[in-house]
Amino acid sequence: LVRSLIKKRVPLQIGRMCYSSSSVPTTKLFIDGKFVESKSSQWLDIHNPATNEVIGRVPKATHEEMLAAVDSCSRAYHTWSETSILARQQIFLRYQQLIKDNIKELAKLITLEQGKTLADAEGDVFRGLQVVEHTCSITSLMLGETLPSITKDMDTYTYRLPIGVCAGIAPFNFPAMIPLWMFPMGMVCGNTYLMKPSERVPGCAMMLAKLLQDAGAPDGTLNIIHGQHDAVNFICDHPAIKAISFVGSNQAGEYIYERGSKNGKRVQSNMGAKNHGVVMPDANKENTLNQLVGAAFGAAGQRCMALSTAILIGEARNWLPELVERAKGLRVNAGDQPGADVGPLISPQAKARVNSLIQSGVDEGAKVLLDGRNVKVKGYENGNFVGPTIISNVTPNMKCYTEEIFGPVLVVLEADSLDDAIEMVNKNPYGNGTAIFTTNGAAARKYTHEVDVGQIGVNVPIPVPLPMFSFTGSRASFRGDTNFYGKQGIQFYTQIKTVTSQWKAEDATLKSPAVTMPT
Ligand code: NAD
Repeated sequence: LVRSLIKKRVPLQIGRMCYSSSSVPTTKLFIDGKFVESKSSQWLDIHNPATNEVIGRVPKATHEEMLAAVDSCSRAYHTWSETSILARQQIFLRYQQLIKDNIKELAKLITLEQGKTLADAEGDVFRGLQVVEHTCSITSLMLGETLPSITKDMDTYTYRLPIGVCAGIAPFNFPAMIPLWMFPMGMVCGNTYLMKPSERVPGCAMMLAKLLQDAGAPDGTLNIIHGQHDAVNFICDHPAIKAISFVGSNQAGEYIYERGSKNGKRVQSNMGAKNHGVVMPDANKENTLNQLVGAAFGAAGQRCMALSTAILIGEARNWLPELVERAKGLRVNAGDQPGADVGPLISPQAKARVNSLIQSGVDEGAKVLLDGRNVKVKGYENGNFVGPTIISNVTPNMKCYTEEIFGPVLVVLEADSLDDAIEMVNKNPYGNGTAIFTTNGAAARKYTHEVDVGQIGVNVPIPVPLPMFSFTGSRASFRGDTNFYGKQGIQFYTQIKTVTSQWKAEDATLKSPAVTMPT
């Protein structure tokens, strides 16, 4: 039956898996400088989240294809790692211009596959572009250190060198920004790179690969494979791969960290979050309410830095009705529709999960002040939409607080004092981001010093650091030693070689062997 359906080109779908050839476009692999059709018999459908129509298919690369990709990286490494650093810099200077020139096209692709609004999709590309721009300062970033005359006629200096083939495994929520945190940083340091984009949104990474090729990156310096668990296991296990950058859920991130580390690889793993916005009664009300609404519901809450939890202190508890009014004003629509503020979730499963977490709040005694579960979007009745939702009277033991919701849902807790709020934030296992809203410098200082979270905003709701700094999530939001991009990113993708050299004058020849430890 399967064979006859395939012959007739009828798509036979089992879950998200598709075992036939069909008329929708296929995502290619990028191997050794060529965009090639996979020979895989296993394909996954790609959906437009606003309609759930199938818009493409992505292969689960075969073992041979994955081997070809990593072999290509290994071959290219020999020349790429020895290429002049100025030549690598020139490629990335051209690359940043090509990304700028194509930002609208990239954004359209993101909206089609991921669902976020076009304006937000441009922001996704722009924040990745900034990392590429920063790679153009590689000639300073990769400088070693020197110390002359550590003893007579002896100098020590260090080289910062690439480590080999590196790999990146990306999530669905930032199809441009997160791959751009990965391969440009790794490659500019002289490594070659094997990328596995999210199988749900592979299109943008493919376009970014084409632009990098156009910028002059030699064949084999970047290879792209697609897939799910087998591709991830392949990356964790292949001995040629020296380092893995992962961004995604805790379930996958912990697994990849363990398996990759066990195999002797460096792993940096950015994972889930529950970010708290602490609202002091002295905060600028207008700004704070707008910032809370924007940061909770933007990108339909599918950001690891979304401000998904508010803690209201004292008088700020009375601001809830106004918060609800502002959230009601957001327009839920397909991402490519003019004026859309909140797009769809990535899949029907994500929608069902978000809805069930809202229901869990109701069941556990919380109060749904604004319920987005039954939102209807005209013309997009099959899309995965959930409207802005605000749940109050939440307590730290409730499921809607303990789990990352990853949807347009703001859970609201109350605290009697800043100390109580700090205690609550520090008891939560995640440490990705947080923000305090206040006009009191002393309160802001206390918060930034006492809260155990890696990225803190003071009157800044989504404090994602620019690339001259690093993305420094902590605790359950991160596994590894060195973070993404900035100086830490350079450290992750390089190793140090230290040379100690002695050049004595001819008349200073050693008279006898030194058998003691040199001091
Ligand atoms: P995900 O973990 O489902 O997928 C990420 C990648 O891992 C994909 O490439 C996928 O193919 C692979 N993968 C998925 N499940 C796997 C498994 N069980 N074993 C091995 N590999 C697996 O994540 P997602 O749903 O694409 O992204 C959303 C998550 O990512 C959220 O938890 C969000 O907080 C997190 N995130 C974190 C950051 C950060 O910087 N901390 C940034 C963006 C997203």
